[in-house]
Amino acid sequence: MNFSADIGTLKGVGEVRADGFRSMGVSTVGELLRFYPRAYEDWSNILPIERCPIGENVCIKATVLYPLKNERVRGGMLIAKGSITDGDDVVSVTFFNNKYITSMLKSGEEYLFYGKITLGKFAAREMVSPMFIKAQQSKAILPIYPQNSKITSRQIRSAVETALKDKTEIPEILPKYILEKYSLVSLDTAIRQIHFPENAESLQNARNRLIFDELFILQLSLLSLKDANSVVKTDNKVKNDYSEEFFSLLPFSPTNAQRKAVAAAVFDMQSGKQMNRLLQGDVGSGKTAVAAALVYTCAKNGMQSALMAPTEVLAVQHFETFTKLFENSGITYELLTGSTKAAEKKQIKQRLKNGEIDLIIGTHALIQEDVEFERLGLVITDEQHRFGVKQRTGLCSKGENPHVYVMSATPIPRTLALIMFGDLDVSVLDELPPGRQKTTTYAVTSKKRAGVFDYIKKHLDKGLQGYIVCPLVEESEAVSGVQNVEEYYKKVKDAVFSGYSVGLLHGKMSPKKKDEIMADFKSGKIQLLISTVVIEVGVDVPNAVIMVVENAERFGLSQLHQLRGRVGRGTENSTCILITDSQGEDTVTRMNVMCSTTDGFKVADEDLRLRGPGDFFGTRQHGLPKLRIADLMTDSKILTETQELASEIIANDPNFLKEEHIKIGKQVKKKINSLQTPVAANTI
Ligand code: ADP
Ligand code: MG
Repeated sequence: MNFSADIGTLKGVGEVRADGFRSMGVSTVGELLRFYPRAYEDWSNILPIERCPIGENVCIKATVLYPLKNERVRGGMLIAKGSITDGDDVVSVTFFNNKYITSMLKSGEEYLFYGKITLGKFAAREMVSPMFIKAQQSKAILPIYPQNSKITSRQIRSAVETALKDKTEIPEILPKYILEKYSLVSLDTAIRQIHFPENAESLQNARNRLIFDELFILQLSLLSLKDANSVVKTDNKVKNDYSEEFFSLLPFSPTNAQRKAVAAAVFDMQSGKQMNRLLQGDVGSGKTAVAAALVYTCAKNGMQSALMAPTEVLAVQHFETFTKLFENSGITYELLTGSTKAAEKKQIKQRLKNGEIDLIIGTHALIQEDVEFERLGLVITDEQHRFGVKQRTGLCSKGENPHVYVMSATPIPRTLALIMFGDLDVSVLDELPPGRQKTTTYAVTSKKRAGVFDYIKKHLDKGLQGYIVCPLVEESEAVSGVQNVEEYYKKVKDAVFSGYSVGLLHGKMSPKKKDEIMADFKSGKIQLLISTVVIEVGVDVPNAVIMVVENAERFGLSQLHQLRGRVGRGTENSTCILITDSQGEDTVTRMNVMCSTTDGFKVADEDLRLRGPGDFFGTRQHGLPKLRIADLMTDSKILTETQELASEIIANDPNFLKEEHIKIGKQVKKKINSLQTPVAANTI
C-alpha cells in the first residue's frame, strides 16, 4: 500500500471527489486511513422492536407487511408509507422522494432496518427514512464519517473500502515489547478494524491501540521538547541569588509557596541552562510578587526582563503592582503598549537598548515592535493559555536563550496541564497570602434581585465597590430572558442606583474607553461596574467586594470562578451572588459546586468532568493540541500509561537511536513540527 499516493489515484475517486477529500484535510491514501469514523451504524446488534430505546439508532429485523405505495402530495413531494413487523410488534415506516422504494422493499420479505424509532400519534412506533438491507446480507458494523457539503460519509466509506482491499500489511511502528506489555493489536489490525470492525470487541481493541499511539506520540513529543529545552545552554546564568534581599524590601512576608516557587526558578537559572517553567496559582495567590523576585534577582545579575500580558488592561495593572513591589528597590521599569505616545516609545526603546531599563512590561506588541534589549535574560508571560507555544517563544528571539517563566491564573487539572504544558517544569502556588478574607457564594433566582440590589447599596454606602456581570453586550444580540449590559445599565442606573456612580464596561468599547472606565473604577470614582466578562481576567481592585452574575447558567464553572476571583482581594469579606432561573440539572450542579468550594483546582476538575476538555476553556484559545481519537477525560488511564512509558523512553533513548525506536522517532519529529505551528492570540 502506498500511503503517500495522492487520494486521486484511488480507484473510483475522480477530480471532484478528490477535492472533496482535500476539503476534509485528506489528500493522500495514508491520510484517508487515518481519517477515523466519528460513529458507527451497528447492524450486528439486532434488537426486538419492543426493546428498542426510543430516539436512538437501532437495528431491527422485520418483515414488510403490505406493498408500499408512492403518493404525490402538495408541493410535488413523493411519500411512501408502510408497516413492518418482527412478529411481535409493528413499526410504521415512511420514505420521501424515493421513486424506487416500492420495488426495493417487497411485501412479505425480511430486511434489516437501521435508524431511530420515534413515537407518533397514539404512541405508535415510527421510523422515518430508515436504512435497510436484505436480512440475508452479512451483518456488520459500518463506519460513519464526518461529512461536509463536498463529500458524504458514504463516499468516504467506499473510498476507505477500496483502499483496504490492498491486503499488504500496514507497517508497524511500535516495537514488540510495547505491543506485548500493553496488549495492543497490530497497527494493521487497528486501522482495518477502526474502519470496518468485525464486532464490538475488535472495535474496542482498535480504538485502544490508536488512542495509545496518539497519546504516546504526543507525550513523547512534549517530553522531547522539554528535554531539548532543558539542555539549551545560556549565558544568562544567575550567579547570585538576591531573592532574600528582595523579600526584605517587601511590606509583607512571602508565603511558603511563594518562597518555594522563587527558589525553584532561581535554581533553574543558576544551572547555566535555560529555564522553562510554569507558575500556576489561583487568583490572588501572589504570582506577581514571585515574578518580581525573579526580575530583581536577574537585574542584580545584570540582566533585563520582559513581561508580556494578554491585554492592555492587564499590562497596566501589572505595571501598577510592580510599582508597589519595586518601591525602594532601585529597579527601573517601564510600560510599553499600543497607547504609549510615539515620543515616549522611542525614548523607552532607546533606554532598553542601552540597558537602562531592568524590566519592560507590555502586551504582545512587545514581540512585534522593533524592541531591542541590551541583555534580555528573563521573559515572563502572563495568563498563558491565551498564547500559543510560538508566541511564548517569540519574545525569546530578542535575547540569547533568555529564561522563560509562564504564569497562569487558570487552575488546570493535572491531566490537561500535562498536555498543555508538558514541555515545561511546573511550580504551584497552593497557598493564599494570610489575611485574605472569605468569599461566600450564593445562588438565587431573579425573584431575589431587588434584595440583591439593596445588599449592593448597603456595601456601596460603606465606601466599598461591586460588579454586576451580564452575558451579552447589547440588545441586538438579544436572546429572550438573557440580560445585556447596555439595557441593564440604562434600567438600573437611575431607577435603582440613583445617587450612586454606576459605570458600564464591555468589549465593544474602544481600548481607550475601557481603560478610562477601569481607571475610574480603580480610583473609586465608579462605585458599581456593570460589565460583560471583559473584567474576567486578572483585574485587581481590592475594594470591590460584591460580584453579581446575571444569567449564571450561561457561564461555565471555570469562568464563574474567574469572575468570583475579582472579589475577595482586599481586607473585607466578599460575596458572590449567582442569579439564575434555570433549573437544568447541569446548572444546579454548577451552582452547587460554586457555593460549596472556593478551591480553583476543585472547580476546574468539576468543570472538566462536566464539560469535557474540548469545552473546558469555552471557545477561547486554549493551547490544547487537536486530538484525532483520544479523549483526555475518558482515556485518562491510557494517558497515564503512555506518560510513564514516554518518560522511560526519553530517559533511556532520548534521540530514538535504538533500532526499535527509530520509527517512533519519525512520528515524534512530525508531531513536534505540527505542535509548533503558530496559533493566533485571542483578544477580548
Ligand atoms: P495573582 O497575580 O496571583 O492573582 P497578585 O500577585 O496580583 O496575585 O497578588 C495579589 C495581591 O496580594 C497584591 O496586591 C500583592 O501585593 C499581595 N500579596 C502578594 N503576596 C503577598 C503575601 N505573601 N502577603 C500579603 N500580600 C501579598
Ligand atoms: Mg495577577
